[in-house]
Amino acid sequence: SAAPATWIWRDGALVPWREATVHVTSVGHASVAAVFEGIKAYRAVDGDRLLVFRLDDHLDRLYESARLCRIVIPFSPDELRTAVLETLRANGYRDDTYVRPWAFPRGLVREQMVPAGVECEVVIDTWPFTSHLFRERACRAGVSTWTRPGDSQLPARVKAFSNYHNGRLAVMEARVNGHDWPVLLNDRGQVSEGAGACVALVRRGTVVTPSLTSALLAGITRSTALDLLRDLGVPVEEREVDRTELALADEVFFVGTGWEVLPVGTIDGLVVGDGGTGPVTARLERAYADTVRGVLPARPGWLTEVPR
Ligand code: PMP
Repeated sequence: SAAPATWIWRDGALVPWREATVHVTSVGHASVAAVFEGIKAYRAVDGDRLLVFRLDDHLDRLYESARLCRIVIPFSPDELRTAVLETLRANGYRDDTYVRPWAFPRGLVREQMVPAGVECEVVIDTWPFTSHLFRERACRAGVSTWTRPGDSQLPARVKAFSNYHNGRLAVMEARVNGHDWPVLLNDRGQVSEGAGACVALVRRGTVVTPSLTSALLAGITRSTALDLLRDLGVPVEEREVDRTELALADEVFFVGTGWEVLPVGTIDGLVVGDGGTGPVTARLERAYADTVRGVLPARPGWLTEVPR
């Protein structure tokens, strides 16, 4: 596991990482109501500036997640924005870094079913993160027998820890079956997403990705990818996707903050394309790398420089 940071942000102040403890009976580490974000800061192409990618969009989603789970974040988005930048600055990161803000209700495990509207504690942890862009070989994916809970079962659209038990079970199953990662169907049997990333396929030059009503996280990288593909003149479709389309696709790839753009080489053992990174996936990977590192002009609000 990654080395701890020097500083962690907790409820309004930077505190030494090793001192940021909670009592074992705290509901915080066991809560079904905790919500979180996963954000990346990239080293800019032109030196050692650190650029946080789509910070405001990630924070917006954190508040949406909290709203849906009926917990109240006692900080304004502006305060959390400053806190993220301050945590990155204080730790002195010069290279790619992962940022993990999360919010969990105050209280004890015995009060697990906490009342709606309860205040929560907010923490921002950070750790060094190595980008796999252009490095990783295509992964092996398998369609999982675990399905994504429907929208009336768990709030898949937001980033709630409760959803990740489902994803973990699917990853464990995938590993047992010799795959790297699962692709989950939704409760209607159509393609939803991966365990930690959204999924897309390419068929005859068109990129197809499940629509947001397919029980997937409203992925920010997914939305970035759709924008970048449109810029590249690649036709895109957001719609319901059948599992057989995965098997017949020319290319399949995952998109997520941590996974970035990850090509899929096999689906349930069927080789996708030539088993490597397909041409459309490669163009997207290039555009994504150039966007997050500030080579290509980013859209307003996409890149936030960490102050020195
Ligand atoms: N789906 C799931 C289940 C995830 O955990 C993630 C990673 N946050 C994604 C999709 C991708 O979302 P994003 O691009 O916003 O990181």
